Amino acid sequence: MTRYIDVNDVSRLVREVGLPRMIASMASYIEQDYRRWNTFEKTARLASHSKYGVIELMPTSDARLYSFKYVNGHPKNTQADLLTVMAFGVLADVDTGYPLLLSEMTLTTAIRTAATSALFARFLARPDSRSMALIGNGAQSEFQAIAFHHLLGINEIRLFDVDENARDKLVCNLAHLRGLRVIPCSSIAEAVRGADIVTTVTADKTNATILTPEMIEDGMHINAVGGDCPGKTELHADVLRRARVIVEYEPQTRIEGDIQQLPAEFPVVEFQRIVSGQEKGRESSSQVTVFDSVGFALEDFSALRYLHTISRERDIGFELDLIPDPHDPKDLYGLAMDARLGARLNPAILAQADAVRH
Ligand code: NAD
Repeated sequence: MTRYIDVNDVSRLVREVGLPRMIASMASYIEQDYRRWNTFEKTARLASHSKYGVIELMPTSDARLYSFKYVNGHPKNTQADLLTVMAFGVLADVDTGYPLLLSEMTLTTAIRTAATSALFARFLARPDSRSMALIGNGAQSEFQAIAFHHLLGINEIRLFDVDENARDKLVCNLAHLRGLRVIPCSSIAEAVRGADIVTTVTADKTNATILTPEMIEDGMHINAVGGDCPGKTELHADVLRRARVIVEYEPQTRIEGDIQQLPAEFPVVEFQRIVSGQEKGRESSSQVTVFDSVGFALEDFSALRYLHTISRERDIGFELDLIPDPHDPKDLYGLAMDARLGARLNPAILAQADAVRH
């Protein structure tokens, strides 16, 4: 049987477990999986680009489990009251190929992306970081703010979005967080000035320059989340040239990340080398660090692994009849013709079928 977790189930988990705890747990699953980098089969995601967006498949596996995520990115969607990013995913057993979990991954992607950002920042941002600028106040933004507040000790967030309604929504959604000062700003430069960390999480299918060189101050950590597709970037190339740039999986980020603007020999460091102690994260307190985030399949694998565990512990979701279960595995035809198949799930129908037969 395949466990099925829908949007209501994940939102119930968020309410029962608490978002900060869920982000922290997911960050710890992601860290565990980055620490065993060499056990994973890795590939850049398969992207299907169209005029307004992209649809991507993100597979990976270790020797035991296999996962994939279906995800899109359509920045114009919000104009039609649709989500920019939505996703679902599968976790399967490698030995048999049987799917173990089919899950919603729109909420889950926001949680895992925030968890990944906070995890990377733990290794890259100055430990005394307390303020963050948050540019782009859409669907991902609350998750980023909450992750940095709870996991990094950020106590001041300075917000900017070209859409004032999005900015006001974020102010309102963060109002209940104790110990967090939320400051709406009227320009990117105003939000970024003096910030220890800058998170960019905008959506526009263009080579944008959300951050330009004159905005960057010594010691800043930049968590660049929104530039994640060919032709869709957020940082001026000189911001990258000035920084130590950390990536998830280099072959994928060369195509999709902000570094797509730079030659292939531009030096970057994969996070797995930092988490395993082969490289330092930040080399000095004045260095500028950039996490050129695009989202890597390993993080979704970790997220699904977490959901599979916690949903069973809390008995959330239900068992789905996704895969046939014939008495004779060589007699799929027999199962197709079996009027009692539907009844296997529902004893009432089984009783009805018996009544008709007799
Ligand atoms: P969204 O459409 O809900 O929000 C994006 C916000 O950016 C909007 O409010 C928009 O007004 C704002 N914006 C656009 N251009 C701007 C500009 N020049 N200055 C300031 N604000 C601007 O999208 P979302 O779901 O929050 O996703 C945001 C971005 O993050 C997308 O580009 C998405 O592809 C990306 N993303 C990346 C990852 C990852 O792992 N790296 C994961 C999820 C989403």
